[in-house]
Amino acid sequence: MTSKLAWQQATQTVMAAGRVLIVTHVKPDGDAIGSMLGLAAALRERGIEVDTAVDGGVPRYLTYLPGAGEVRSALDTGNWDVMISVDASDEPRSGLVGVYGREHSAVVINLDHHPTNTMFGDVQLVAGEAVSSTEVIYDWLVHMQCAISAPVATALLTGLLTDTIGFRTSNVVPRTLEIASVLMQCGAPMYDLIQRTLVSRPYSDLDLWRYALPTMRLNSGIVSVVVSQANLREVGLDESTDGGLVSALIEVDEAQIAIVFKEEPDNTVRLSIRSKPGVDVGTVAFSLGGGGHAQAAGATVPGTLEEVQARVLPLLRAALTQG
Ligand code: 5GP
Ligand code: MN
Repeated sequence: MTSKLAWQQATQTVMAAGRVLIVTHVKPDGDAIGSMLGLAAALRERGIEVDTAVDGGVPRYLTYLPGAGEVRSALDTGNWDVMISVDASDEPRSGLVGVYGREHSAVVINLDHHPTNTMFGDVQLVAGEAVSSTEVIYDWLVHMQCAISAPVATALLTGLLTDTIGFRTSNVVPRTLEIASVLMQCGAPMYDLIQRTLVSRPYSDLDLWRYALPTMRLNSGIVSVVVSQANLREVGLDESTDGGLVSALIEVDEAQIAIVFKEEPDNTVRLSIRSKPGVDVGTVAFSLGGGGHAQAAGATVPGTLEEVQARVLPLLRAALTQG
């Protein structure tokens, strides 16, 4: 829960600011971009000058969001009164734009919903029970008594929908649906957003599955898949994606945990982990230098695919026993 004092501090800080920078996490998802652009649009509507930045820019499927065209994919100029980091549970997570932003901003506001948040920054708007960072922004706008325009509602509902996979995660409560209802009434086109973010994927995603699925294993409740750099090259994808594989894997009835081990070019392995309710993989990811939620987490771990599997699978087995 965010305290009233934190809302007040954050509001005063932003309202007194001439220039605000909003950054979000590397390899951004719908909640990352929805939070950044929803908050940016709301602040701009109130006359505040806002810059937005994320390493690598906005993924193509999210470019329908308001202000996506103005997002900077790298920062090498600028100074700001306030930097707001959204949907990033620690400082490294906001990548190079975060490094530059922290060095060139007087105050840092940390707005997030990950239980593993390290509480960095000068003001923390961190709500571990919120289903998305856009829910935290919604609460902030309500606290500020701001009317919600259709573009802002569209961005906020995008994060709510994508982080709950269409209201299907275990943290969804009646209030989640109430917020979605308000956002629809403010003009967010729910059906359209579902189609864009949840019910469509590029062919290359499935092409990647073709190469990855032969590596699939199911061992005592853990279903795993390995994606190599060679696989990514074969489908012409150098971009860091696992094609949404892990979400499909956790649908396996016999699995309590699903994990994708993805080889990165720099001798590290990227982990994407999901679990069924009752098994906490967020803590495991945090212990490996990453973070996330109990049911969805990730980390990047040094080593080869073989070394990282040998290190991580026992930790997941232990999490299963504890769960
Ligand atoms: P995904 O598997 O979709 O990349 O990530 C699942 C969840 O874990 C998301 O909430 C994401 O923000 C978080 N997460 C993934 N990787 C990392 C990481 O390296 N560090 C931190 N702090 N969180 C991560
Ligand atoms: Mn999120």
